[in-house]
Amino acid sequence: MAYRVTLIPGDGTGPELVAATRRVLEATGIEFAWDVQEAGADVMDKYGTPLPETVLDSIRSNKVALKGPITTPIGTGFRSVNVAIRKALDLYANLRLARTIEGVPVCHSMVDLIVVRENTECLYAGIEHDVIPGEAAEAIRIITRRATEHIVRFAFEYARANNRHLVTAVHKANILKATDGLFLRVAEEVAAAYPGIEFNDRIVDNMAMQLVQRPYEYDVLVCPNLFGDILSDLCSGLVGGLGVTPGANFGHEIAVFEPVHGSAPKYAGQNKVNPTATILSGVMMLRYLGEIEAAARIEAAISNVIAEGRSVTYDLKTDRNDPSSVGTQEMADAIIAMMT
Ligand code: NAD
Repeated sequence: MAYRVTLIPGDGTGPELVAATRRVLEATGIEFAWDVQEAGADVMDKYGTPLPETVLDSIRSNKVALKGPITTPIGTGFRSVNVAIRKALDLYANLRLARTIEGVPVCHSMVDLIVVRENTECLYAGIEHDVIPGEAAEAIRIITRRATEHIVRFAFEYARANNRHLVTAVHKANILKATDGLFLRVAEEVAAAYPGIEFNDRIVDNMAMQLVQRPYEYDVLVCPNLFGDILSDLCSGLVGGLGVTPGANFGHEIAVFEPVHGSAPKYAGQNKVNPTATILSGVMMLRYLGEIEAAARIEAAISNVIAEGRSVTYDLKTDRNDPSSVGTQEMADAIIAMMT
């Protein structure tokens, strides 16, 4: 039977990346009944909102979604559709994988990091207002015991299920004594229930420096929302950039798979950006659906295409202006050809 999956192309470069990913997933022979749903800046005029309720209904009903990136206007305009989806569906855990792929130009050769980011609170609760318009504004940062227990437990359960040995809680509890103090205390309490997995903690600024210098000393990082967002892009940079790092959001019985990167709007419609991050998000989805063999087949094909170095996008070339780089769809074609 075909898997019924909500497919959200998104905006910016999202539609071309999702189209490429769809072709690669279908090339495995697994059948999908895609429930295509529009969201993002491009549908504002049509629906009067960037997130029509039908999108959320579709995800609630199908319980699995593959999503392209969606633009959020900077400083003004509508609030993030991505944050809204995560909050509306209580997708409390954001999982982002940063793993070295042979052939990608990088500074460190053996990076394999998992960032587990709390997805529903912290500064992303969106509680902010002007105190004196044009002069002063404030935002409220929310950390709760409930959400922290959920996210730290998720990190340990992920570590246990995937044979990972160390969970590191990232915080700024030296300065933010109430909020991050609570995050750290709860993390320590949860960690005590997992004696087989090592636990430590790092202050976020030190963590950033250590990740750049010695990323191989870390394994699974569990972070409040904002620090997780920033550090997951840093980890992407360690393994070759946003073009290669996949992600997923998990709630209770619902999962939404999407790359770490955003809509890269300056490249929209140019068939230029790297489809790997979106395809690997699809690979995470296949594993979630229990399609382990197909997931491994795509992953091996991606590795071979990248290691070969011929049919790759500009960001995977040592010289980004290398004229031999190929486009989004051509890289997907090469991955499909490598699978068959
Ligand atoms: P971005 O991730 O879109 O792009 C930053 C840079 O990373 C790009 O200019 C490009 O150089 C590189 N890049 C990104 N994706 C790439 C790919 N697939 N292949 C090769 N290079 C790639 O970040 P931004 O410019 O800060 O954000 C653009 C928009 O995306 C904003 O509106 C932001 O709010 C939104 N955003 C959405 C999501 C999401 O949908 N989950 C996540 C992050 C940002």
